[in-house]
Amino acid sequence: MGVSDEPTGYRAIPSVAAVIDALAPLDHAIRPELAVALINESLQEARRRIAVGESLTREQILESVQGRLAAMRMHRLARVLNGTGIVIHTNLGRAPVSTETARAMAEAAASAVPLEIEPATNERGGRMREISELVHLLAGSEAVLVVNNNAAAVLLVLASLAGGREVIVSRGEAVEIGGGFRIPDVMRQSGAQLIEVGTTNRTYARDYERAIGPDTAAILKVHPSNFHMTGFIATPATEDLTALGGTHGIPVIEDLGSGALLDSARFGIAHEPTVSESLAAGVSIVTASGDKLLGGPQAGIIAGNRDLVTTIAAHPLARAVRADKTCLAGLAATLRHYLRGDAAERIPVWRMISAALDELQRRADRIIAGVPAPGLMLERVETRSSVGGGALPGQEMPSVGLRLSPMSDSVSADHLARLLRTHRPVALFCRVQHNAVVIDLRTILPEDDATLIDICREVAGRL
Ligand SMILES: *Cc1c(COP(=O)(O)O)cnc(C)c1O
Repeated sequence: MGVSDEPTGYRAIPSVAAVIDALAPLDHAIRPELAVALINESLQEARRRIAVGESLTREQILESVQGRLAAMRMHRLARVLNGTGIVIHTNLGRAPVSTETARAMAEAAASAVPLEIEPATNERGGRMREISELVHLLAGSEAVLVVNNNAAAVLLVLASLAGGREVIVSRGEAVEIGGGFRIPDVMRQSGAQLIEVGTTNRTYARDYERAIGPDTAAILKVHPSNFHMTGFIATPATEDLTALGGTHGIPVIEDLGSGALLDSARFGIAHEPTVSESLAAGVSIVTASGDKLLGGPQAGIIAGNRDLVTTIAAHPLARAVRADKTCLAGLAATLRHYLRGDAAERIPVWRMISAALDELQRRADRIIAGVPAPGLMLERVETRSSVGGGALPGQEMPSVGLRLSPMSDSVSADHLARLLRTHRPVALFCRVQHNAVVIDLRTILPEDDATLIDICREVAGRL
């Protein structure tokens, strides 16, 4: 096809040299040959779009190239404030860790650490030693294995203890947790066979008992996480299941999900099962996430019976999902908060859950006074926060928020929310309700209030 036959749209596409001229000067964040490669790719993309009939102006093409170069320079996982009111927000990276934990993680990441060596003897030592001792004291486990996340923990436990054999699960617990984690699928991947018992709403210990046979490897109890049933429901007490398991010589495994080490009922919300309760009830192996209610780094914690943990650790998958030094250092630092008894004061997740309403109100008033913004109306409002992360579904905490309404009718709340989400260097995520932006203060730590004021002021100035 000759040039003259081409649709005029193709003529809108500039040469690479013309783009470089238009965008000059290129900075040092991207090596010149990589910038050229990126420009080429963008121009090819423009060509494809024109080929399918889109009409693009030269200006639009230059803008999109510029956008890609700018995005490439930017650190996407930069700090944002979580004004959503959801404490453990999966899309915002779940639990933020304490200052002490962040410091321990940064230090381990940047240096050599005695991960698998005993300093006193210079002999090879256990990677899990420190964490095992901490979890033993805090929750009563005999042994611990830490892997990348709880999904890996469940998969590894099932593969190592029940591969090729049967695992009994209540029909009401054969659930999907979210993010593609579905108990029946994980079971299949592990090589274990799922034996569902009971009904969706009611399962009794005798249902489990009837399903026990020569191929039964374990009974699995699963925290239904985001899924909550009320009404005509029944599940056996954990003690009844462990008694049954004991009689038949079958281990009971419990996937706790959040796996709290503090009693959430202390803070006016429902009680989330704890690791120690589960172990005290006779569960052989408990699995839990590190970055939900524990409030630490992403990790999967496998705790319980020593012989079983040894078997689990010896499975080839264990090596594939093992936790790194940064995670282990962070988890140990987090567990030390529970050891000292300052978890509620130092771990962000618990600080947010335990924040008192009158304190949130005082902060709201101070922030409103700190943002003299002609383009923006700020008001204190009552909100409802939730824990998130699959813990305590349906449980809400009364909270305090700031409602930001643009003074001009031509500015929508969605536009304002977008300005906040894309703000630099620190962005803010919030809710949009009834054409107003609502920032829940429970999920923003008080030390970030000054940053919040800066963001609001700056964004108000741009309206
Ligand atoms: C969250 C959750 C998982 C998955 O844990 P990750 O740490 O996200 O891998 C598994 N089981 C339950 C019950 C959960 O709540």
